[in-house]
Amino acid sequence: MRSIGHFIDGVETSGNSAEFQDVFNPATGEVQARVALATEADLNAAVASAAAAQPKWAATNPQRRARVFFNFVALINRDMDALAELLSAEHGKTVEDAKGDILRGLEVAEFVAGAPHLLKGEFTDGAGPGIDMYSMRQAVGIGAGITPFNFPAMIPLWMLSPAIAAGNAFILKPSERDPSVPVRLAQLAIEAGLPKGVLNVVHGGKSVVDGILHHEQIGAVSFVGSTPIARYVYATAASEGKRVQAFGGAKNHMIIMPDADMEKAADALMGAGYGSAGERCMAVSVAVPVGKETADRIVAALKPRIEKLKVGPATDKASEMGPVITKASKDRIAALVESGIAQGATLAVDGRGFTLQGYENGYFVGPSLFDNVTSEMDIYKEEIFGPVLSVVRAKTYEDALKLTMDNPYGNGTAIFTRDGDAARDFAARVNIGMVGINVPVPVPLAYHSFGGWKASAFGDLNQHGTDAIKFWTRTKTVTARWPSGIKDGAEFQMPTMK
Ligand code: NAD
Repeated sequence: MRSIGHFIDGVETSGNSAEFQDVFNPATGEVQARVALATEADLNAAVASAAAAQPKWAATNPQRRARVFFNFVALINRDMDALAELLSAEHGKTVEDAKGDILRGLEVAEFVAGAPHLLKGEFTDGAGPGIDMYSMRQAVGIGAGITPFNFPAMIPLWMLSPAIAAGNAFILKPSERDPSVPVRLAQLAIEAGLPKGVLNVVHGGKSVVDGILHHEQIGAVSFVGSTPIARYVYATAASEGKRVQAFGGAKNHMIIMPDADMEKAADALMGAGYGSAGERCMAVSVAVPVGKETADRIVAALKPRIEKLKVGPATDKASEMGPVITKASKDRIAALVESGIAQGATLAVDGRGFTLQGYENGYFVGPSLFDNVTSEMDIYKEEIFGPVLSVVRAKTYEDALKLTMDNPYGNGTAIFTRDGDAARDFAARVNIGMVGINVPVPVPLAYHSFGGWKASAFGDLNQHGTDAIKFWTRTKTVTARWPSGIKDGAEFQMPTMK
């Protein structure tokens, strides 16, 4: 059985781990590897390695640090196929989708190759008589990232790239359900020229996360995962005086206006609702058609598309949607579908009882579509994180907007329309962090920032873009005066520019 170790001080190691956790192949239900779970000593070893490497790394000029990222990007591209296959084997998503996962992470590694420019400070010449004032951005020291199972390449890359390019050492605690790609990325970073110790990976669940949150040498923590854990990580790290950003779950609504192109809107809902088996924080899980005719037309357009959706293992190139991550997740989704029926929603496409010959023990869930969903139902209130799309019919645009705004989550949303006024009004008024206009999954590119509002994010700086540089650095402002500018005698009043 293959063992997946931590990555500490430049080598893969099981460290002191006496406990291991099974890593499954979601398509077959078979155990394919086991991952070491870190002890306190393992985390301390990772922190010690990071602490030893960080000062020299921070003192390396930003252009040299950036060159490591140029190499890193090239190596990830070199190994793209192998990385995507490894990712698919543990996550279950199709290989093409796994490449998207890697590429959207890679783009942030490309962005931070501009570190010399991104890290430039500010300077005021002659801020006072003989006085210059400048501010610089300095690394926090040791940063940590705790990441979810659903993007095992993208989200680790979103965190480690800006953190490391800014001069920090970084400890990654990836999801224990698909841990191989994060370790592979760390190995590639070393091959790219990153000094050992600057990037360490430790595996595990709550105990290692708690170890990170309370570790006095870790100065900043970035978290992505479900909302209850995001809240916990935010509160705990903040109470320890750490800088923290914590991104949580989602329930993304897509409004379909009567003037929208229904065929295009239905295609968009297919990808956004069922791509990656609905296991995306930017998946659309609620379609909100405006008016009865729009609702009838979108449901009619969706049904044949969903019935034709090709569900299968990542190893089958024809698959459009793979299994979900675990048996527990499959059972939870099945229970939510039953609750939808019991609470009065119309099951317009029934994905229950889906089986695939030769993959009977895999965690496949057939795609389902619910119509006539209301905001009181559990299928509306819960983040299902599976291939289940709910249609909530709205009478008017204002009703659709209110529904979206009243939802506790605020990650992403979209409107499909040909009406520029409606689109503009929606973008201006909606209380959601990322908005798509005829774009169903509006994940911003690396040089803009990514983050939700409300229960989808805690903290005040987003991921990637210039926000990430701010998160992983501290500002220091220097006021400088040289002897020729200094007047004789003591001054007791508060210095002003009078
Ligand atoms: P999760 O919350 O179960 O796990 C996330 C991380 O927290 C993992 O590394 C896990 O080991 C750790 N963890 C689990 N239980 C913990 C506990 N009790 N205490 C401390 N740490 C714990 O999330 P998941 O199932 O891996 O990922 C899916 C969730 O992530 C969904 O809710 C999804 O919406 C969300 N997500 C959000 C974003 C975003 O940017 N907002 C992006 C991707 C995923």
